[in-house]
Amino acid sequence: MVFWCEIERKMFSRVLIFFGCVFVLSGCVYNDEPVPEIVYHSGSESKLVPPRTVIPEHREIAYKQIPRAWLPPSQLEHKWTAIVIHHSATTSGNAAIFDKMHKEERHWEGVGYDFVIGNGIDSGDGQIEVTFRWRGQIAGAHCGGTPNNWANEYAVGICLVGDFSHTVPTKRQMQSLLKLVSFLQKRYGISKNRIYGHKSTPGARVTDCPGKMFPMTRLKSMLSY
Ligand SMILES: [Zn+2]
Repeated sequence: MVFWCEIERKMFSRVLIFFGCVFVLSGCVYNDEPVPEIVYHSGSESKLVPPRTVIPEHREIAYKQIPRAWLPPSQLEHKWTAIVIHHSATTSGNAAIFDKMHKEERHWEGVGYDFVIGNGIDSGDGQIEVTFRWRGQIAGAHCGGTPNNWANEYAVGICLVGDFSHTVPTKRQMQSLLKLVSFLQKRYGISKNRIYGHKSTPGARVTDCPGKMFPMTRLKSMLSY
């Protein structure tokens, strides 16, 4: 009997010690602040939501309205700062014809311009052809002589088929040019005072291009900035 009483007494004291410890410990952690609940996600990996890209309104409009071929590959896209306008000084032609001519006669990689706007003879009237230079975003070969070759490096070269020393561009050529120049202005932040005829490009070699009948003043009056 004494033996069992001794066991019960020991067990009773151990239970007392155990609850005493629980009481002390719970007192240590108790506070009024709500404890944040830890929720374990059932999925194995958390997913990161990429930030939403905000496209400025003018760029969004440009994206919707312009041909896909005008959009350069994003990984190659160059920072263009000016536009130089040329005429072909020929009555006809297209990007392929000028490409062959520039390779054979001038030993260039190919056509010197980024864009060629047809006059209805060898390509559509007002048709805009995109050349390998624009697709690859490489320097042009259309406006030599400028300091550090800046015009070929940083100016987009646009050629209208025709000889505007004697004639004027077609209405459709001008409409296409206006659309293309407006797109380039918006995309690269080029103001109209950075749009040149070849002969007016700072530092360019003396030339008549794009011809005395090319309506540069009228073109600029139709541009918004
Ligand atoms: Zn020129």
